[in-house]
Amino acid sequence: MAAPRVLNLGAGVQSSTLLLLSAEGRIPRYDLAIFADTGWEPAAVYTHLDRIEREVANPAGIPILRVSVGNIRDDALNPAKRFASMPLHVRNPDGSKGMGRRQCTAEYKIRPIQEAVRSLLGAPMKDNGRPGRVKRGRHVDASIGISRDEFHRAKDSQVSYARHNHPLLWMTGAADGREGWQRSDCIRYLRTRRFGKTPKSACVGCPFRRNAGWRRMRDTDPTSFADAVAFDHAIRVGYPHATANGTDLRGNFYLHESLRPLDEAPIDHVTRPERAARQTDVFDAIADTEAGLTDPDDDPDTEQGCSPFGCPSSDTWQEAA
Ligand code: SF4
Repeated sequence: MAAPRVLNLGAGVQSSTLLLLSAEGRIPRYDLAIFADTGWEPAAVYTHLDRIEREVANPAGIPILRVSVGNIRDDALNPAKRFASMPLHVRNPDGSKGMGRRQCTAEYKIRPIQEAVRSLLGAPMKDNGRPGRVKRGRHVDASIGISRDEFHRAKDSQVSYARHNHPLLWMTGAADGREGWQRSDCIRYLRTRRFGKTPKSACVGCPFRRNAGWRRMRDTDPTSFADAVAFDHAIRVGYPHATANGTDLRGNFYLHESLRPLDEAPIDHVTRPERAARQTDVFDAIADTEAGLTDPDDDPDTEQGCSPFGCPSSDTWQEAA
């Protein structure tokens, strides 16, 4: 029996591109697309997800399965809940700068996907209601939306029941003529299919967000920005669960890398990498103009979203269960 073909759908640019390519028959058709919902994506991501489900996945017969282990924001602020930590920026008691452990990707994105895959492969349910081991020899072929500009994130699966593939790395027709699509090729393709506004997928309060991302959120999605500001204030001395359990305070925690409250942080500062990206985008913009694909709202940005297996600092490919 052929292994089921599964798309890890983060609903950002690259994985949305794979869904469209599959629906068009340019790559083999997926049997299932899985979206891991942290419960705290910007509204635009959920709107986009609904749209690609309605306009692309359903007509092509590709089911989208939404899985979740909870709401990352609510869990983080719940004093009664042990929380899988986010990579918060920390000012340590001695004044030095640090970053909290990142367990959120494994807990809120990888784990629910792996459990869905184990169920799909017929793993028996354990007493705790979670799927157990998969019979030896069974696996899915799992597509990950990694483009050529981030090929270093392409990693083999470290579980036996999933084998990774990265179709964007083998696509032809890139603007520079080389093998593999870059993120900009994906965006161009999505524009031609009327999905040019595909948002970046990442939690509203993700500490990996950079100045350009915070600015865009403040200027285009003030509700989400206000929510992130409130969250930032709420976690200043750590997660309520930790403090409620008498864990020693180990500094102050922030969403912004400047270690300042988000509503005071210098998010209008254009960083050097962002300037460099804008330079690159000038050339993209010229190519787009020639192709008739200009977008007056295009916003150069160096950030990556957080797809399940392409999280900004994701080196987690071990078993998350
Ligand atoms: S987007 Fe950020 S906060 Fe959300 S799971 Fe990924 S790393 Fe964690």
